[in-house]
Amino acid sequence: MSSLNVAKFGGTSVANYETINNCASIVIKNTNTKVMVVSAAAGVTNHLVLLANTALTSEQITDVVENIRKIEFAILNKLKKPSEVEDKLFALLDELEKLARHEEINYRDDLKDALMSMGERMSSLLCAAIIREQGSPAINFDIRKVLRTDSKFTEATPDLSNIKALVKQLLIPETEHHIVVTQGFVGADEQGRTTTLGRGGSDFTAALIAEAIGASTCEIWTDVIGVYTTDPRITDKARPLPELSFEEAAEMATFGAKVLHPATMEPALRQNIQVFVGSSKEPDKGGTWIRRDCENEPAFRAVTRRKDQVLVTVKTPKMMYAQGFLERVFSIIAKHELSVDLITTSEIAVSFTLDNPPNSMSEKMNKETLVELSNICEVSVERDFDVVTVVGNNMHSEAGVSSSIFSAIADFNLRMICFGANVHNLSFVVSNSDSEDIVKRLHKALFE
Ligand code: ADP
Ligand code: ASP
Ligand code: MG
Repeated sequence: MSSLNVAKFGGTSVANYETINNCASIVIKNTNTKVMVVSAAAGVTNHLVLLANTALTSEQITDVVENIRKIEFAILNKLKKPSEVEDKLFALLDELEKLARHEEINYRDDLKDALMSMGERMSSLLCAAIIREQGSPAINFDIRKVLRTDSKFTEATPDLSNIKALVKQLLIPETEHHIVVTQGFVGADEQGRTTTLGRGGSDFTAALIAEAIGASTCEIWTDVIGVYTTDPRITDKARPLPELSFEEAAEMATFGAKVLHPATMEPALRQNIQVFVGSSKEPDKGGTWIRRDCENEPAFRAVTRRKDQVLVTVKTPKMMYAQGFLERVFSIIAKHELSVDLITTSEIAVSFTLDNPPNSMSEKMNKETLVELSNICEVSVERDFDVVTVVGNNMHSEAGVSSSIFSAIADFNLRMICFGANVHNLSFVVSNSDSEDIVKRLHKALFE
C-alpha cells in the first residue's frame, strides 16, 4: 500500500488569507500529501444557494454578488503577488454574476449547479497561490476533468470506474511535480456539464480522490478537533473521540453528524483508507482516526441528530394478507431515487421517514412520490420531525442497553423507534422542538 495522502479543508478552514496559510502549512509539512481538496470559503456557498433558489431583484443580486466579491477580494488583496491570479479570479466572478442573472437560474438545475460550483473554483485558485507563496509548487486543477458523475444535478452520483481511469490519466501525472489543489463538491457529467454532489459534498470528493489515487490516508481538516460524542454545538460536554470504526463513522454521518458527508466512508471502506478528522486551526491537538479495526468498540459511541425529516404512513385495508403491496410502495420510492432510513410496519400500515431539507432535490422528489403513493393507498404525512440516533456496537446483544436509554428520555414523546436491524444504531423520530433536549439527556446519561 502506498503512503499517499489526500487532505481536505472545509469552508471555515479556507475562510480567509490567514486560515488558508494554516492549511497550506499542514499540506506542505506532510510530504505524502499529493492532493489538497478545498471547499468554498465560509459563507460563499450559502450566498450562491440564495442566488440559485430565490427570485431576487437586480439590486438584490448585485448585493449578494458584492458580498461574495468581498470575501474573495479580502484574500486576493493579501497575496504577495495578486497579479498572478487576479485575471482568473475576475473571470470567475464575471461567470458567477452572469449565471446569477440568467433568466432561468431559479428553474434549471444545470444552471444552479454551474453557479454553485463557483465558490470551490475560486477558492482552489487562491489556495494554490498561497501554497506557491509558501514555497511549494502547486497547481489549481479543474476537478471536472476527472470527477465524472451522472446528470442528477444538485445531488449527482459519482461514476467510479470512469473517475478511476480519468484520475490515472490526468491527475496522477500532475502529482509528480506539484501539489494538486482542486475543488471539492463539484463534478461533471458525460456531456461535460457541471454537477454537484450535494451540500457538504467536499468530504466525499476527498475520499473518492483518495480511492482513485490509491492513497492510504485521507485527512478531513475542519473547525473541530475530531468527531465528538455529539455535535459540540449542542452541548459543551461533548468530547472528541480518538478513534472510530468505519461502520460507526458511516452510521454517525448518515444520521446527522455534519462533520462528515454521509457518503465519505464508502470509498474508505472499499479501499481500507484511514480517515483522519482534525482542526486546521489547531493541528497539533490531534483528532479522530477512523479505521477498520478499533482498539475498543463500546456499546455507546455517540449521539447524533438529523434534522428535517417527514414521517410518511401508508395504509390500506387491503394490506391484510395482501402480497406485493410493499413492493409497489417501494418501487415508487425507488423510481424517485429516494432513500428510506427508518421504517416500521404493522398489519395494515407502514411508516417511514424521508429526508426533507428545504430547497433540496429530495424535497422536490418527496412531493411527486407522495402524489403517486396516494394513487395506490391512503397516505398521511407528518412534518417537523428530527431523528435522534444512539450509535454504538452490539447494542442488540448487550443487557440493559434499552433501559439506560429509555429511562433517560422517559418523559418525551417518541413518535417512532427503530432498533434491531443494525447492531450500531438505535433511532427515534421525535418532534423537532424536543430533539435538542433529547440529545442532551442521552449524552448526559451515556457519556457524562
Ligand atoms: P467543514 O466546513 O469543515 O466541512 P462542517 O460545518 O461541515 O465543516 O462540519 C463541522 C461541524 O460539524 C462542526 O463545527 C460541528 O458543529 C458539526 N458536528 C455535528 N456533529 C458533530 C460531531 N459528532 N462531531 C464533531 N462535529 C460535529
Ligand atoms: N461548499 C459546499 C457546501 O457548503 C460543499 C462543502 O463545503 O463540502 O455545502
Ligand atoms: Mg462539511
